[in-house]
Amino acid sequence: MTGRGSAERLRADCANCAGLCCVALPFTASADFAVDKPGGKRCGNLTTDNRCSIHARLRESGFTGCAVFDCFGAGQRVTGRDGLTPGPEMFAVFRVTRQLHELLWLLTEAEAIGHGEEAPSLIAEIDALVEGDAEVLRNVDVDAWRARVGVVLEQVSHQVRDGLGGRDLRRADLMGARLRGERLRGASLRGALLIAADLRGADLRRADLLGADLRDADLRGADLSDSLFVTQAQVNAARGDAATAVPDTLTRPAHWLPSPPPGQHEASQQARGMPRGKATPVGGGTGVGGRSGNGQRTGRGGRGKRNGGTGPRNGTGRPGRRTE
Ligand code: SF4
Repeated sequence: MTGRGSAERLRADCANCAGLCCVALPFTASADFAVDKPGGKRCGNLTTDNRCSIHARLRESGFTGCAVFDCFGAGQRVTGRDGLTPGPEMFAVFRVTRQLHELLWLLTEAEAIGHGEEAPSLIAEIDALVEGDAEVLRNVDVDAWRARVGVVLEQVSHQVRDGLGGRDLRRADLMGARLRGERLRGASLRGALLIAADLRGADLRRADLLGADLRDADLRGADLSDSLFVTQAQVNAARGDAATAVPDTLTRPAHWLPSPPPGQHEASQQARGMPRGKATPVGGGTGVGGRSGNGQRTGRGGRGKRNGGTGPRNGTGRPGRRTE
């Protein structure tokens, strides 16, 4: 399957997963995780039927990393593989599949945008790898795949942003930066550190956010409606509100504020040519991205591996498994 429809299979489906992210992946006590847990050990909050017993209060319980994490549908795919049962081999396959699924998500966006001519063949290759021999899969060179995919994403980014005059802020250190109302349309923010940056009302349309670290970034009223390569994990890690426009393939995080205080975003909306008082469109999104890419979950202590912006960085957390 190609196109936007294929993105559906790249969404986490916890109901059809053996709780892999809550068992296979390690985490370290930090601002994102309340406790240490080695890879392969069941989280103490995982119930016998593979539900999270604290799903409704992950953030309050010190497991923000879990609320942020996205497996890109790898959990249910690996759970459904023939010949694998929960154990070291399945966990190793899951860790690799999760990274490859993130690349599939990015390629699916590139294909949907219409500039990624090589995206369909790469998607087919990766899918064949994921479906293939488990021993081959667990030993795959993910960095090599990331480099191949990175070339395609780079081409797409250039083609989409060409002529927009966007700023080159690739890998810029913008931690805590005051970017309120900033015109960042068409900017390259690949791999940029935007932790806790004030991006209220910022225009991020067609900005390339591949691997940008958006933890605690303030996106209230910002326009990411057609930002490039932004993922669910990235928006989950940020703050936002009902006036934040996100790509229509993404889900608005439940913890975002329902609405901005009256008039708060007017200035930036007017600067973008929007009528006074009209809210920015609220939608779900078109995104792909991530931090670390090494199959591990990382805390807020900055242990996440940066990969140079050629591929996704991931890693701010893990999915809150549903209790419903
Ligand atoms: S979502 Fe997090 S806290 Fe809940 S069971 Fe999984 S690893 Fe544990």
